[in-house]
Amino acid sequence: MKRLTLSFDNGPTDGTGAVLDALAQRAIKTSFFLVGKQLRAPGARALAERAKAEGHWIGNHTLSHDVPLGRADAPHGHHLREIEEMDVLLDGLNEDVPLFRPYAGKGILGPHVFTAESLDYLRRTRHTVVLWNSVPRDWEQPPNAWVARALADIEAQSWTTVVLHDKPNDAMKHLPAFLDTVMARRIEIRQEFPPDCLPMVAGESQWDASALVRAT
Ligand SMILES: [Zn+2]
Repeated sequence: MKRLTLSFDNGPTDGTGAVLDALAQRAIKTSFFLVGKQLRAPGARALAERAKAEGHWIGNHTLSHDVPLGRADAPHGHHLREIEEMDVLLDGLNEDVPLFRPYAGKGILGPHVFTAESLDYLRRTRHTVVLWNSVPRDWEQPPNAWVARALADIEAQSWTTVVLHDKPNDAMKHLPAFLDTVMARRIEIRQEFPPDCLPMVAGESQWDASALVRAT
């Protein structure tokens, strides 16, 4: 049986409520990886609290989502500010084992994703690092094209972790139909993440993630 784990990045936004409605109507639990500058917007924290109250997991997706942590031109102290200050902002929302999803830029993984310092911080603070294996590009036109790409990824893999964005755009209008298709195909929807998307669990390295770390 194929498995699917859903995740929503870069919120909260004015589109988060509609996504939560679609998930609640189908009793689907997911994760939301929040960005600090979004969480500081008026009304955003209430949306994050609603997501948590409805059983979704909340994670850290950096404070400003501007420069990947491992980019050579990232300013001094960047990685700590981006992770640590966001952890502070998430106080009361974070999971017991805090979740961190790096910002990679269009979902493309590589040595720009982490520095040794940022991974060391995540290790010391016993984070679980959550990656992905499907980015169906829900930011591209036409707004329903991501659905076929996500379904193809699900068919091609045994356990797919898909990255979507809970934005107030036309792409998320196709989320209910996508969810109904997945359920009709008897794909098992899990809140947990597959091991190949978790290079670190509660601060413990699970596999060699050096390909994601900037060479020093
Ligand atoms: Zn993102």
